[in-house]
Amino acid sequence: MEARLRQAEKMQALGTMAGGIAHDFNNLLTAVMGSLELASDMGPELDQGTARLLDNAMAAARRGADLTRRLLNFSRPRDLSLQPVDVNALLRGLRDLLMQGVASRRGPDGGRVPFDIRMDGLAPDGDLPPVRTDAGQLELALLNLCINASDAMPEGGTITLSTAQVHMDDAAAGGDLMPGDYVVVSVADQGTGMPPETLARIFEPFFTTKDVGRGTGLGLSMIYGFVRHSGGDVRVTSAPGQGTRVDLYLPVHHCPGAGLAVSNPTAPVAAS
Ligand code: ADP
Repeated sequence: MEARLRQAEKMQALGTMAGGIAHDFNNLLTAVMGSLELASDMGPELDQGTARLLDNAMAAARRGADLTRRLLNFSRPRDLSLQPVDVNALLRGLRDLLMQGVASRRGPDGGRVPFDIRMDGLAPDGDLPPVRTDAGQLELALLNLCINASDAMPEGGTITLSTAQVHMDDAAAGGDLMPGDYVVVSVADQGTGMPPETLARIFEPFFTTKDVGRGTGLGLSMIYGFVRHSGGDVRVTSAPGQGTRVDLYLPVHHCPGAGLAVSNPTAPVAAS
């Protein structure tokens, strides 16, 4: 319990720091991008080589701006729009986008890697109450988790999404969860899995075992922040050589008669 509390405090401190840096860095990037645009506008006066260098610099600045946007999101989870969400419907509506997200993965030889996303483990619709969460953030989280799963399966494989309702009593809730009803959304893979020393650090911002340019180490820390602010928790089980399962515990929305929000899948987002 104390360890989880320390983790939450650490996350908060890191979030505040990350937000401050992201904010200042974003202002600098805006100035850099403005200057690059002015330089690009010189058009015919530029030789081809210079124009290409300017394009490259602009692309790098845009990537930097995207990273700072993620950092700001991480440090401002209070901006969440919590609504009743039908998770099964959200998952079904998201399937194509998730497939696109993992389909772009390339194997070590540069070729496409075959992936399947299975949803036959969804709880029957009638059995699953709405949850209280931010539908847009949940979509981003699921996309991120599927991309992590695909990264863990360099030869391809199956990613399984499932849902279930659970009741957590005092003893079962433990740690960060209040006793109550939850819908658990799980993303499972049969990939590399993680050794305990990796598993212990996955929620730390900037912790990554991936190559530079492939991982930022922000995916799971942002997912953790968003789920905790929804009143839920993230639990991860993993075994080296066998695979990983990430369980998002989302609190059931207790308000009969409220309409269900199912947002449309948004445009594909880059991996964390
Ligand atoms: P990133 O994906 O950018 O590295 P994350 O915060 O999403 O950042 O993940 C942190 C680390 O957790 C990853 O670098 C990887 O070592 C580990 N990890 C996350 N998901 C999985 C998974 N499904 N299988 C194996 N390792 C994983």
